[in-house]
Amino acid sequence: MEDPQEPILTAHKAAADRLRELHEQLHSWELVGRSLGISGGMAYRVALQGYEPKDSGIRHRLGLPVNPLVMGTAVFCAKCGRAFVGKWGNRRKFCPICRPVNQSEEARDE
Ligand SMILES: [Zn+2]
Repeated sequence: MEDPQEPILTAHKAAADRLRELHEQLHSWELVGRSLGISGGMAYRVALQGYEPKDSGIRHRLGLPVNPLVMGTAVFCAKCGRAFVGKWGNRRKFCPICRPVNQSEEARDE
């Protein structure tokens, strides 16, 4: 089963690795942030705390894909409790795994 969030996590790890590399060279989160056009605090949080920036401009500077969580909204599955990405105006109750395949409500979704 493919995790739809996997590419985001991979991109985030690459961005965090890059920030930590810059920090080894610059020895300052402020300078790391400045070199990328973001704040030092943001650089620190993304690199060390797994923070996902919401701002699409910041995401672009970090080489992150535009977050689906920005385009849609994080929802927790009513059945298994797993978090997944829903879409604006389309409040799904179930994650892709628990979602009934041939439900008419879902048919017009994709
Ligand atoms: Zn589920």
